[in-house]
Amino acid sequence: MDCIFCKIIKKEIASEVIFEDENMMVFKDIRPSAPIHYLVVPKEHINSIADLKEEHRDITAKLIFAAKDIAEKLNLKGYKLVFNVGKEGGQIIDHLHLHLLGGWSNQEDIDKMPHPGLDK
Ligand code: AMP
Ligand code: ZN
Repeated sequence: MDCIFCKIIKKEIASEVIFEDENMMVFKDIRPSAPIHYLVVPKEHINSIADLKEEHRDITAKLIFAAKDIAEKLNLKGYKLVFNVGKEGGQIIDHLHLHLLGGWSNQEDIDKMPHPGLDK
């Protein structure tokens, strides 16, 4: 399968790895939308949230907890966790990933941050 995130996980494509264990990898987004923009990615190829099966319950929870742990280590007071689901949901890479976005500190930046789904 020609999946860019599977290649990153197999280290066939370089990435800036923040964290790795037997189940997942966290690496920097190549086109950051926030001062901190990491992708939390299961090593197993799952297409998207819409393809989750019962057996994926644990890994899905692990992705969220990994994001929380990293945010705590970085002392982020607030952050966004985003799953884009399907082409119509803005998903470009069909390998499940959780976006961790944060690092906005002053009020001007906070006012300018993306607010998906909200009219401003
Ligand atoms: P999504 O729209 O949810 O599928 O997001 C895919 C994300 O992957 C985008 O934010 C891209 O900037 C990011 N991305 C694409 N290629 C790479 C890469 N080689 N290394 C790191 N991030 C990538
Ligand atoms: Zn993959």
